[in-house]
Amino acid sequence: MTDKTTIILDKKVREYMTSPILSVDEGSTLKEVAKFMKSKQAPLVLVKNKSLDYTGVVTEADFTRKVAAKECSVKTTTIESIMTSPIKTIKGSTIMAEANKSMRLSGIRHLVVTDNEEFVGLLSPINFFKYYEEVEEYLSDLAINDGLTKIHNRRYFDEVLALEWKRERREHSPLSLIMLDIDFFKKYNDTYGHQAGDEALVKVAKTISETLRRPADIVARYGGEEFVVVLPNAEQKDAVKLSEIIRATIEGLKIEHKLSSINPFLTISLGVASIVPSSDSSPEELLKKADEALYNAKIRGRNCVNLAHD
Ligand code: GH3
Ligand code: MG
Ligand code: MG
Repeated sequence: MTDKTTIILDKKVREYMTSPILSVDEGSTLKEVAKFMKSKQAPLVLVKNKSLDYTGVVTEADFTRKVAAKECSVKTTTIESIMTSPIKTIKGSTIMAEANKSMRLSGIRHLVVTDNEEFVGLLSPINFFKYYEEVEEYLSDLAINDGLTKIHNRRYFDEVLALEWKRERREHSPLSLIMLDIDFFKKYNDTYGHQAGDEALVKVAKTISETLRRPADIVARYGGEEFVVVLPNAEQKDAVKLSEIIRATIEGLKIEHKLSSINPFLTISLGVASIVPSSDSSPEELLKKADEALYNAKIRGRNCVNLAHD
């Protein structure tokens, strides 16, 4: 797990609970409790019995739901009859994910938080909201990166390409793309196994990303064993130069590939396309050109850089 995963998933109950929580006596009437909650602006209260044990919880929603359905007398009915019970206690040091699970499994919607046997707070579904929000944020963050290679994924690439397209069009500067594909990768998997294939993919991704020098340059996993590099404000000749460096560096890794018919080691083919964006063209067109150039690099014999023609 990455550090961030640990930070989010290991968050403790104590950070999310509502505290302090007010309490009422079991013998109080609905009217008394409603008045108390209103005056304290408390959306929920704990109910305690004569021996001061917490026996349940009452929320504002309980009043509207249960009182209306039961048509009971608000003056004489005790709070005990509408409270949600039992309640469950958990320690403040419990991890949120555990508390969540415990809540789901027990069906109990209110968890009383204790520290050293002392009641310190309460966890209701509403308290989980912030936690869920953070987890969601973390997950959407994950989507920006490719799970295996940890470089950017295709969704992120699409966003960057659209943004850079607009920028270069405004500035009348060139935008270059490199599409790369591992040669005979199916045979590589067949020879060394899928696990080794995954490891090779990670190495290739890492190598490409280390080759990039300018902060705005990005590499993304386009799919399977295919990668794409975006080079904002880069002329065609510079993109070709960089492509050749990437090609040679991958070959130089000397990842054995016995069944490759062109080289004893793993190699890649690259297609390069450049354009000064205008209203007559589109990002899709640039991508298509780079893809065609890559296809022609394969036809030309692989392990080479091929330039798109206009
Ligand atoms: P070419 O030189 O024409 O590109 O041939 P190729 O074998 O590389 O191309 P092909 O499209 O026939 O096969 C691609 C292979 O890439 C097949 C697939 O199993 C493998 N592959 C795609 N994604 C992954 C992955 O995430 N892990 C592993 N291990 N293999 C993958
Ligand atoms: Mg391939
Ligand atoms: Mg492919």
